Amino acid sequence: MTQTTTAGIDDLLAGRLPDSHGRFGAYGGRFVPETLMPSILRLETEARRALADSRFQQQLSDELEDWVGRPTPLTRARRLGESWGAEVWLKREDLTHTGAHKINNALGQALLARHLGMRRVVAETGAGQHGVAAAAACARVGLPCEVYMGAVDVRRQAPNVLRMRRLGARVIEVESGDRTLRAAIDEALRDWVSDPLGTYYLLGSAVGPHPYPWLVRELQAVIGREARAQLQERSGSLPDLVVACVGGGSNAIGLFHAFLGDPSVTLLGVEAGGLGSEIGHNAATIVHGRPGVLHGSRSLLLQDEHGQIRETHSVSAGLDYPGVGPEHAFLRDIGRVRYTSIGDEEALEALDECSRLEGILPALETAHALAGARREAASSTGRTILIGLSGRGDKDLGILAETESRDGDPA
Ligand SMILES: *Cc1c(COP(=O)(O)O)cnc(C)c1O
Repeated sequence: MTQTTTAGIDDLLAGRLPDSHGRFGAYGGRFVPETLMPSILRLETEARRALADSRFQQQLSDELEDWVGRPTPLTRARRLGESWGAEVWLKREDLTHTGAHKINNALGQALLARHLGMRRVVAETGAGQHGVAAAAACARVGLPCEVYMGAVDVRRQAPNVLRMRRLGARVIEVESGDRTLRAAIDEALRDWVSDPLGTYYLLGSAVGPHPYPWLVRELQAVIGREARAQLQERSGSLPDLVVACVGGGSNAIGLFHAFLGDPSVTLLGVEAGGLGSEIGHNAATIVHGRPGVLHGSRSLLLQDEHGQIRETHSVSAGLDYPGVGPEHAFLRDIGRVRYTSIGDEEALEALDECSRLEGILPALETAHALAGARREAASSTGRTILIGLSGRGDKDLGILAETESRDGDPA
C-alpha cells in the first residue's frame, strides 16, 4: 500500500476520523474474515447509536458513578513535584473499582452487549486485568462471560484466574500459538466468528478491527474529560505536559483526547523499553515497530525482517503486546503525540519513588508513565505535568518481591 495520508489533527477533532472504513490515516481498518463482516458492521452501527442515545449515556454515567466510583480524584503530588522541580498532578484511575482504568471500557461494552440483546460475552486477557474487569462488568449487567487466556499466563497469573472464577466467569485456557495474549485474542475472535449473532466480543484495549479502537477510546475518554475540568478548576490552567503509558493504548488515548485540540499541551506516550532496544527485548511498538496487520487492523507492529511478529518483553505484563492502537500510530505520524520508551529498571525506580513520596503504590505499567514524566521534568523545570495513574500496584507484589530478593534490597 503506497497510499499516503493527508489526514491531520483537524480531521480527528472534527470527527472525520476514523473514516467510514475505520481508518486513522494509513492505519486501522477492519481486516477480518468475511463471516464476521455483518456482525462487525452491525456492532459499529449499534455502538454509534447507543453512544448518541441519551438514555444509554445516562445508564452508563449512573453506573460509572455508582459502581465504578467516578469521578476519580485528581491528586496533587507535592513531594514528587518538589523532587522533580515541577507541579505534578495524578489522575487516579487506580481508585476505580477493580483498580485500573480497564473497568471504564469493560463496563461500557458490557452495557452495550446487553443493550444489543446478546446472550453471552467473550473476552481475551493477558495478565488477567482485563479478564477481571470484564468478569466483574458482566456479573454486574447479568451476562455470562467466558475469558480466553493463554496457558502460560494462566500459570503466571493464578490470582487473577481465581478472581475471574469467583466473579462467575469461565476461564478458557489457550494451548495454541504462543499460549499468551496473542493466541488468546485469536481464539476469542474465532469464538465470535462461530456465533456472531449471539456472542459479544469484549475487547480490552484500543486495538483490533474497527469499531473497537474508536469504541474503546470513546469509553475511556472520560479520563481526560474529568482530568481537564478538574485541573482547570484546581489550578486555573491547562497542563504543559500530559503523560501516560502505552500498551495497546487505551488509558493513554482516553487521557489524551481531551487535550488534542490544545496546541500548548505537549502529549507524551511511554512504551515499555524492557531490557533494551534489541528486538525481542522490549514492547516499544511505536518506537521500534513497522506497519503491518495484526488482530484485524493495520498499525505499527514489532516484527522481524520477514514480517514475523516478534516476542516482546516487559516487566509489566499489561504493556507486553507487539501491537498498538491505530490512532496512536496516526498521532505519531502527524506529530501530535510524542512517544518514548522506559526500561524495566527505570520503571521500577519510579515505582519506588512514587510509593515512598506519595504513599501511592502504582502498577508497573503506570510506573513507565511516571518515569517518562520524571525524565521530562529533568530536562526543563517548573512545568505543570498531568500523569495518568492508570492502575494500582497490588497485583504486582509478586514481581516486586522477586526483584527485591534479586537485588537483596528490602530497604
Ligand atoms: C492494562 C494496563 C495498561 C495498558 O493498557 P492500555 O490499553 O495501553 O491502557 C496500563 N496500565 C494498567 C494499570 C493496566 O492494567
